[in-house]
Amino acid sequence: MPRPRAISRTDSTLISNADMARVFNEIADMLEISGELVYKAVAYRRVADAVERWPDDVAHLFQSDEPPKIPGAGPALTTKLAELASTGQLAYHDRMRAQVPSGLLEILKIPGVGPRTVKQLHDELGIDSVEALRAAAEGGTLRSLKGLSARTEENILAGMARLTSRGTRLLLHDADALMTGLVGQLREVRGVRAIEPAGSLRRRKATIGDLDLLAATDDPARLIRALDGLTTVEHVLSAGTDKSSIVLAEGPQVDLMVCPPAAWGSHLVHFTGSKEHNVALRGMALDRGLSLSEKGFKVVESGELEPVATEEEVYERLGLPWIAPEMREDSGEIQAALAGSLPTLVSLADLRGDTHVHSDWTDGVDSIEVMARAARDLGRAWIVLTDHSPSLGITRGLSSERVAEQREEIGRLNAELAPFRILHGTEMEIRADATLDYPDDLLAAFDVVVASVHTARGQSTEQLTRRTLAAIDNPNVDVIAHPTGRIVNRRDPIALDWPRVFEAAARTGTALELNGSPRLDLDDALARAAGKAGVRLTLASDAHRTEELDQLRYAVSVARRAWLAPGQVIGTRSADQLLELVG
Ligand SMILES: [Zn+2]
Ligand SMILES: [Zn+2]
Repeated sequence: MPRPRAISRTDSTLISNADMARVFNEIADMLEISGELVYKAVAYRRVADAVERWPDDVAHLFQSDEPPKIPGAGPALTTKLAELASTGQLAYHDRMRAQVPSGLLEILKIPGVGPRTVKQLHDELGIDSVEALRAAAEGGTLRSLKGLSARTEENILAGMARLTSRGTRLLLHDADALMTGLVGQLREVRGVRAIEPAGSLRRRKATIGDLDLLAATDDPARLIRALDGLTTVEHVLSAGTDKSSIVLAEGPQVDLMVCPPAAWGSHLVHFTGSKEHNVALRGMALDRGLSLSEKGFKVVESGELEPVATEEEVYERLGLPWIAPEMREDSGEIQAALAGSLPTLVSLADLRGDTHVHSDWTDGVDSIEVMARAARDLGRAWIVLTDHSPSLGITRGLSSERVAEQREEIGRLNAELAPFRILHGTEMEIRADATLDYPDDLLAAFDVVVASVHTARGQSTEQLTRRTLAAIDNPNVDVIAHPTGRIVNRRDPIALDWPRVFEAAARTGTALELNGSPRLDLDDALARAAGKAGVRLTLASDAHRTEELDQLRYAVSVARRAWLAPGQVIGTRSADQLLELVG
């Protein structure tokens, strides 16, 4: 008999919304595996979803005089919610668990394996664990079942491999690419008035969990059918009348929410989050006798509901200017909005150039000319070419002779590409002993010097800080690239003594980089602290091939989450202004 899973509590007494939702989702899984009618499972899933998204503590509300009306929960399910809320347990859930082998629930988590297949595998082959399923798939016995084939076996094994690679959150870049593809495919569906990513992707966080997509449409059923039918969709988890959850063949889950156009504004605010930002907004609404939900403002006294069509109107109703999604973290944005001191955030359109670009002279893929032309096609007025210095051995860093040859090549190209400008820079190593990789006279000849740490990252904070400060204090160094060396989901940042680094950078006018490659380094919190400390920032793609020049947009995302204005970012200047700035 399976052991009931321990239930974690948000406080010592009450079950959390997430745990309540998990119990209901598990019941739905078990109902489906048992071959119950589909609508029963759908009802549990709908309630699970509503509970998970409920802004306040559902268990807590059940203890109060006014229990919440959870959409989709009739009398039977409401009784079950109340039982869970008061005891943290559900007898029905325990009974189901005693009947359904727990291995079947594990099998159901494998992408591409639905409940009907789980039931079939169990009934006909006695498969009751992931390991038994793996053995059967590898041994080729699944193809003997009706409707299954050698292809199914391959898919199941691939799904298992993907499952073990899960758990890491999706990188912003990947989430953005997947969502851009989906939105492009769904925008033209008849009835769709607006469709936009919501959640942490719209807030441009560095990593994303599930993808949230919101659409305003006159024909919800048509849009949900269109999503479920896309070839990039592997598996439909649940589909209702105003939402659908699917798993993409590439792995991530997408939750599509659908709303009427008249309620687009309140839905967009609600599903963009963050949760903390929305809690603050709801508090302000209550002060005005209004209850704010995704459906709009409800006048508490009369119960009258006013849907809201635009985000601007939601904020206006609360006496606030519109707040950019990247700032919606309840980290001072509401106070700033009330005080009229919200910053104008830097945008991609403000940027004239890119301060960190490589070519095939070191470890890049494309030639200087190809990189320059591609940057020009993207609307940049200039790039700083920053190939590596010699001590970074793997990159074939440039000797002083090669630096001189490269300068000539750039001069020739600039004559051809004007008014576009290639500025001659370097990404110079800060060596382990805190000396710099080029002598001062060579450094002085570059237009822009970018310095970075790639080696001996295991040193102490004091040593790493001293190396960084040595570069900052050199008058020829203009930028510190990717100051912490992190790579999102792959390599941890190094720890520096930030107050000292910020003080020195502000004093010397050395810019710190926000790197738009999957490093996203500095991160948003450090970038905001740097900006507050009066440090100049620079946004850069660190492109090694033309396709990566567009990574500049992710540096912009970090800058916006860091509340940076155009004036704090050096790339908003013309090439001549930049040269003047860096001296
Ligand atoms: Zn680098
Ligand atoms: Zn680089």
